[in-house]
Amino acid sequence: KLSRRLQCIADLVPKGSRMADIGSDHALLPAYLVKVGIVPFAVAGEVNQGPYEAALRQVKGSLIEDQVQVRLGDGLAVLTPNEVDCITIAGMGGSLIASILDKDSAKLEGVSTLVLQPNVGEEFVRSWLSKHGWLLVEEHILEEDGKIYEILLAVKQDEDTFSVEDKLLYTEQKLGNVTLDRQWLMQLGPHLIREPNDILIRKWSSEIAKQDKILATMAATSSEEVKVKREQFEAYKKALEEIV
Ligand code: SAM
Repeated sequence: KLSRRLQCIADLVPKGSRMADIGSDHALLPAYLVKVGIVPFAVAGEVNQGPYEAALRQVKGSLIEDQVQVRLGDGLAVLTPNEVDCITIAGMGGSLIASILDKDSAKLEGVSTLVLQPNVGEEFVRSWLSKHGWLLVEEHILEEDGKIYEILLAVKQDEDTFSVEDKLLYTEQKLGNVTLDRQWLMQLGPHLIREPNDILIRKWSSEIAKQDKILATMAATSSEEVKVKREQFEAYKKALEEIV
């Protein structure tokens, strides 16, 4: 049985797709997807020897050995172009996920779906998606073992076919009296803030508390730079308070 986090990711992988899980560790996700028949073929990519061997142990000698290929290599380097149509990258920082996608972007040829789960720095992932013609179609937030996870589903789309609404998704949205600009949307998640649930509210309530502490320590100093930062934080807090 998968963790709720991995199950949520698994549920977003299109049925029948050929998928790759990059940074797969024990290859739990690709093994599950093949076992239950959601995908016919999967690649488990790992850059580190230990997790690579754990993935091999998961698959070797099992009934799914022919369908799950475990490969050692950095990010998308384990793939050949047009080999898979869905890629999952989960359980690492958002900036690492963005750099993996950036590094070998030719390997994204033929890929139509990305399911990404950054542990922190979600804004780097959203920002990468928005700059490279990927439309964010779903965002999920869940809590497991005291940690909050966000899971993003994006599809490749020709930018000419973006609707007005699609374009605004990344650039501007109204939330109560506050207009959220691109920076806030990347942080908060354009879909998540439309229908904030308890978990999102808890996440950002604690973020506000943190911001408050930072503001309090800044009050003691008064350089121009600190003043600008303070103003940014105040605007940030105001936007957040609209949802919490
Ligand atoms: N994806 C699994 C999950 O969500 O449960 C495992 C997450 S684990 C915390 C992160 C894994 O990513 C580690 O096994 C690490 O070796 C691997 N990793 C980190 N950077 C990588 C890269 N550039 N290419 C492939 N794997 C990478």
